[in-house]
Amino acid sequence: MLFCAITYLYPDPNYMSQSPHLLSNEQLIEVFALTKTATAIHVGEDAVIQTANDAMLKIWGKDRSVIGKSLEDALPELKGQPFIDMFKRVWLEGLTISGTDTPATLEIDGVLTTFYFEFEYRAIKDATGKTICVLHTAIDISDRIIGREAIKRAEEKARALEKEQALNEELAASNEELAAINEEFQQSQESLRSLNMELEARVEDRVKEVRESETRFRTMAEGTDIYIAVGDESSNATYFNKAWEELTGRPMQELLDFGWADLIHPDDKEAYVNVYLSAFEKKKPFMGEFRILSKKGEYRWLLASGPPRFRPDGSFAGYISSSIDITDRKQEELEKQDLAEELIAINEEMTVSNEELLSANEDLVITRQQAEKAELSLRMAIDAARLGSWQIDPVTRELSYNTMLAKLFGYEGTEPMTYEQALGQVIEEYRPLLMEAIDKAITDHGNYDMTYAQHRFSDGEIIWLRSLGRVTPDETGAFTIFSGFVMDVTELKRDEQRKNDFIGMVSHELKTPLTSLNGYIQILQSKAKKTEDPFTTNALEVASKQVKKMTTMINGFLNISRLESGKIILNKSEFRLDELIADSVKEMLLMDASHLITISVHQPITIHADHDKISNVVSNLLSNAVKYSPNNREIEISCTIADNAALVRVKDQGMGIDAKDMEQLFDRYYRVESNHTISGFGIGLYLSAEIIERHNGKIWAESEPEQGSIFYFSLPLA
Ligand code: ADP
Repeated sequence: MLFCAITYLYPDPNYMSQSPHLLSNEQLIEVFALTKTATAIHVGEDAVIQTANDAMLKIWGKDRSVIGKSLEDALPELKGQPFIDMFKRVWLEGLTISGTDTPATLEIDGVLTTFYFEFEYRAIKDATGKTICVLHTAIDISDRIIGREAIKRAEEKARALEKEQALNEELAASNEELAAINEEFQQSQESLRSLNMELEARVEDRVKEVRESETRFRTMAEGTDIYIAVGDESSNATYFNKAWEELTGRPMQELLDFGWADLIHPDDKEAYVNVYLSAFEKKKPFMGEFRILSKKGEYRWLLASGPPRFRPDGSFAGYISSSIDITDRKQEELEKQDLAEELIAINEEMTVSNEELLSANEDLVITRQQAEKAELSLRMAIDAARLGSWQIDPVTRELSYNTMLAKLFGYEGTEPMTYEQALGQVIEEYRPLLMEAIDKAITDHGNYDMTYAQHRFSDGEIIWLRSLGRVTPDETGAFTIFSGFVMDVTELKRDEQRKNDFIGMVSHELKTPLTSLNGYIQILQSKAKKTEDPFTTNALEVASKQVKKMTTMINGFLNISRLESGKIILNKSEFRLDELIADSVKEMLLMDASHLITISVHQPITIHADHDKISNVVSNLLSNAVKYSPNNREIEISCTIADNAALVRVKDQGMGIDAKDMEQLFDRYYRVESNHTISGFGIGLYLSAEIIERHNGKIWAESEPEQGSIFYFSLPLA
């Protein structure tokens, strides 16, 4: 480092004293020019160079041309250096400024170079103390300075070298250490790298494994119809599989956001959530049942269970729950429960009915005893009434009967009498009728009532029997019982026969005088015509009508007796029914003109029948219409063809017939009770029905009280 010191020297007053032996100014300047000490004299503030010796010019690196120039002009490179200002101060303040080891930068041969100087700027004053010039001396000590600096630098260098060497040694040592460390480091880096690689591979494998296991889990969870869900450690659901989505009809996100638990049936929710949460607290497996609302809007029963999940570090991670649909099983359970309850109820009922049965049984014993008693008395009554009882199996026609029947039939065989055997005894005329009646009762499940004659087994004697029966259902509801009674009506029949014979005989006997009476009336009528006696004519007319009425009545009885004794014979011929009707009406009007009778026949109708007997039927119906309707009421008779049959219809506007009487209207001797003031025997409709049936025709009536009656009969066309 260069040290620079500036000393301010005050002027010496003795310095300017003159002597006569002194050299001239030019000499002085010459001498001065030769001095080795570089010297220059400056004047004025700007340090105009008054003179400068060669040494100074050399230092400056200039020639004599600088003389007369200001310091700044002569040495422009001094600008910015302190020297110009120093000169100024020295000049102005009359100071002396000196310095050692002072560096100054000068331009020598066009090159700026720094030199070191010992210098002095001394103000030279006159006697008044006024500065007249500044003496400038300078010695170039650059070499000295540079040498010193070089030594200093060499020393420093040596020191530095030493230091460096020590450092180098230290460095070498530490380098060696470092190399060793480096080697170690490299080795550990190597092993770290391979460890890292191993770890990376392991991590990659683990990630792959996790990814694979997750994929496997998802594939498995998505592909199954088991409802799988995953929950995390805060009991939040994080995953629902496709089965869940399909069951609830909601995408997974919605199930997560919406809160799947709200789909649980309100009755099951609390219980299930409690099961789940208590398992959750203990981190234990859970299992529970609940109903969940499906997309179809119905509840399905699910059985859910799940183990807790733990991470590899042992921390709890939540649950994987799997649920299965147990609706069917639940349904079965419910049904079983219902069934069990029902069974219990039935059992209770059974116990009650058992008790009831017990008491009923006791009643039954009493009833049976009573029934046995009743049966015994019935049997006794049947025996007393001489009633034979029978039963026929409707399918097999197997016959069973009581002893009274066997007695009535005169059957003495050791083997039980068969149905065929019994039928074989029936008189031929009645057998088909009887068989037909039995068949009809069996097929129609109806009543059976037949009176017929048969030969007694024991002596072949004809006996009359009335058999009554009915087909009744058994306890299963099947019509398997055809049973009834049979009674011996031979005596009754004989009485009737006698009565019929009597009626026949009486009628016959009555007819003979009546015929002669009629003959005489006709003779008298022809005689009265000649005399023109109106009274006689009228009286004979009345007499003739009465005789006709009587004849009709007697014919009726005669026909009855003939019918009963089976002596009625049909004399069939072909004739016009329409004409018969017209004749009957004419005859009716001749006898009784109290009613208006209209005939409605639109075509000729021919039938093959007994003319007189059909005429009797028509007359009977017309006379009933007249008899049972007030005078002057209209009576209509029509004859048409319907269903290949001739249909005759007689309609009156009379008193009509009560429903209860309709059934028996065609029975022998049946008369409506309230009509007893109107004369009659109740044989007209009976005879008419017999006649029509024997012609294979049908007869029936329609009537309502006070609404008039309509009687119909139909006969096959010829
Ligand atoms: P009857 O001799 O009593 O007229 P019928 O056998 O002809 O006997 O008739 C039987 C019963 O039928 C009668 O007593 C009567 O009460 C009733 N009857 C028959 N025809 C008619 C009719 N057209 N209107 C009302 N009642 C009738």
